[in-house]
Amino acid sequence: MTIKTKLIKKSKSARMQILVLNSGSSSVKYQLINGGNLKLLVRGNISRIGTDDAQFWQRKENGGEVKFTRPILNHEQAIQQLLDSLLYKKTGILKNLSDIFAVGHRVVHGGEYFSRPTLINDEVMNKISQCSQLAPLHNPPQLKGIEACRRLIQGVPQVAVFDTAFHQTIPPVAYMYGLPYDKYKKHRIRRYGFHGTSHYYVAHRAATLEKQPVEKLKIITCHLGNGSSVAAIKGGKCIDTSMGFTPLEGLVMGTRAGDIDCSAVLYLMRQENLNAEKMDTLLNKQSGLLGLSGVSNDMRKIIEAADKNNERSRLAFDIFCYRVKKYIGAYTAALNGVDVLVFTAGIGENSPAVRTRVCEQLDYLGFDLDHYINNQTIGTESKISKNNSKVNIWTIPTNEELVIAKQTLDVVYSI
Ligand code: ADP
Repeated sequence: MTIKTKLIKKSKSARMQILVLNSGSSSVKYQLINGGNLKLLVRGNISRIGTDDAQFWQRKENGGEVKFTRPILNHEQAIQQLLDSLLYKKTGILKNLSDIFAVGHRVVHGGEYFSRPTLINDEVMNKISQCSQLAPLHNPPQLKGIEACRRLIQGVPQVAVFDTAFHQTIPPVAYMYGLPYDKYKKHRIRRYGFHGTSHYYVAHRAATLEKQPVEKLKIITCHLGNGSSVAAIKGGKCIDTSMGFTPLEGLVMGTRAGDIDCSAVLYLMRQENLNAEKMDTLLNKQSGLLGLSGVSNDMRKIIEAADKNNERSRLAFDIFCYRVKKYIGAYTAALNGVDVLVFTAGIGENSPAVRTRVCEQLDYLGFDLDHYINNQTIGTESKISKNNSKVNIWTIPTNEELVIAKQTLDVVYSI
């Protein structure tokens, strides 16, 4: 029997669960999704991997939560633990490991190698590993997660779904920087973009909600979370996005600076005698909302403090919103008009105050927010523009795991 026949046979049985894994440096987040109806069955999170008091948490959608602390020293042990827990008679959900039809792995950086989800084999592993220099914090732990799964769940297809893949349609005019061309050729320095799975999901979801083919729409998607980015999507294809060579570029984020004159970075390094590592920490971990406000990287706390007249928190809020607005203006130009604007992720889905400020005085471009509906909308899918607004504005909760599960299935079926 060929692998394809085996898989089709298996998929016709009731047992075709998709395991979706997101491996970080000290954590593994996972979801088990029914491959038939794409419904979430179980979600879980293992944190503090590498320590004696790693924390395990798992919840079944139809009830039942497991929580404990125990030594989990590496990713392989973490994945073994989650598989044991899924198989555990009392609180688990799987009868057999062979109930897992496929595993979908979130991989942050696919460089220029990957423009679509890809079935993992040794050559793919090798290429993901080569992309590690572009994402040293993300790709290595994700590779560890893949390696562990390949060992522990043998014979099950493993698929890599890349954060960068959706942005591979961005044309050179938008992805090239004004550096000497050989720096691109030699070091692959260019805009890659991130959060691709989220931008892809909300853009397609918006088209469904609009009852229009995505190919006919010009959409701007704002993924506003702790990390934030905006994308311009024409006919379902991304044509520009605010994150660049790394996730540092673009919007002001929880702890990242976003766009900044490179000379200011060099100046700071010289003035404060900072080496590259210290500068990297300053730009990625001590800047953004946190650095500006001195209060927090958390938008809820910024808004709370701003409401109590904390000047720097007000400034942080204003700068955050202004930067989003600027990108919306820029991408309206890049798209030559816009039909739909989408807000998603922690801040985009939950903060009427941010959405109000971003859309304020964008009326000349056709954005007309319905303030009543906007203020009622927290964490739900909703159209928040007035009926006669030229641009329809939506909040759409993102669902990257669903995309990973669906794309994993698509790849397996196309084998
Ligand atoms: P990430 O996945 O990048 O870590 P999330 O998408 O979970 O981030 O978003 C986290 C951000 O969402 C935090 O800044 C948090 O304050 C913000 N957030 C969550 N709920 C609200 C809310 N009700 N109002 C404002 N901001 C919120």
